[in-house]
Amino acid sequence: MNANRRLDELLRPALAERRDKSLYRVRCIVEGPQGPELGVDGRRMLNFSSNDYLGLAAHPALAAAACRALEEYGTGTGAAHLVTGHTRAHHALEEELAAFTGRSRALLFSSGYLANIGVAVALVGAGDLVLEDRLNHASLLDAGLLSGARFKRYHHADPDSLSNDLSITAGTRLVMTDGVFSMDGDIAPLPRLAEVADDAQAFLMVDDAHGLGVLGARGRGSLEHHGLGMAEVPVLMGTLGKAFGTFGAFVAGSETLIETLIQLARTYIYTTAPPPAVAEAARAALKLAQQESWRREKLATLIRRFRTGAEQLFGSDLLPSETPIQPILLGESARALAASEALRAQGVLVLAIRPPTVPHRSARLRITLTAAHTEEHVERLLQALASLPKQ
Ligand SMILES: *Cc1c(COP(=O)(O)O)cnc(C)c1O
Repeated sequence: MNANRRLDELLRPALAERRDKSLYRVRCIVEGPQGPELGVDGRRMLNFSSNDYLGLAAHPALAAAACRALEEYGTGTGAAHLVTGHTRAHHALEEELAAFTGRSRALLFSSGYLANIGVAVALVGAGDLVLEDRLNHASLLDAGLLSGARFKRYHHADPDSLSNDLSITAGTRLVMTDGVFSMDGDIAPLPRLAEVADDAQAFLMVDDAHGLGVLGARGRGSLEHHGLGMAEVPVLMGTLGKAFGTFGAFVAGSETLIETLIQLARTYIYTTAPPPAVAEAARAALKLAQQESWRREKLATLIRRFRTGAEQLFGSDLLPSETPIQPILLGESARALAASEALRAQGVLVLAIRPPTVPHRSARLRITLTAAHTEEHVERLLQALASLPKQ
């Protein structure tokens, strides 16, 4: 048997097992721009599955900024930021992100996944301790594991559980949490987590992928929502691919933190800088996110409307979330998958989120609302949800 056939035979049983357990993942093919009405596999679908919370991913101002940058810079950066990749476009975006977050400096990364790993690897290692919320995003969990530090998970959104775990002595102790939990939509109790971390001389890092642009009157995210700054949360990570409608991520903090990341974050140093056109599009998004607060107000209205209808249908299975992430807990993966397929048959796209993305027996429909949706879109979603079989 040749090596290729041997490899396939080695891999096939795990694929079959995933299929049997309703855990098999498949992609759909999207045509045309992001938006509430999305071309999917040749059909128009009402889209409640994207993280484009402010409705900016297909905004003409972002595309125009990207086009101008393509004319000026071409496509590629040729190398990493520390070689020839760091253009004026990247640098201007960093300065604007620092101003937006009220921090001394910001540093761009190619993605949120890479930013989280970069921070953990730069700040902790053997002899240190990383503490994470159990329901943190996979990229934070992977970052903790890859750092080489001792790794512990505390109970979800539970400062007392964190406090307990902080009795473990170690060199540097880094606490990492989502600001808004990506699969549950709830807001982390950051003021208490910050206090508990500080009492133990540990450091708190917040991954605000789902808070930035969305929470706070000015869209500055979870920290604005709670009235916290660098003093309480010295490390802030944000992504540009969700509310900011583009791609990439950043870390914001003190001059010393950012210089440390430039020297030590391997996922910053050893990867090609993103295209300048992406940076220019993100600058346009950052402007709109700050100027057009109607987008956050509209989201708040749609969230209220959705919850009023969905609470009647699902009771406490509608998770208690005040953010655009509105999950409905269904339990078994097969049930979540069947519900997602039934919605799809009615032209409504809501993906089923299954283990290992969420804990065992907590498969769910993860509904996301955006400022580009209308009240009528939400009514159509509620009608489709009402037609799902009970149990
Ligand atoms: C999406 C996400 C990331 C990863 O960001 P990318 O830029 O998509 O790699 C990190 N953390 C959280 C909480 C996320 O939801």
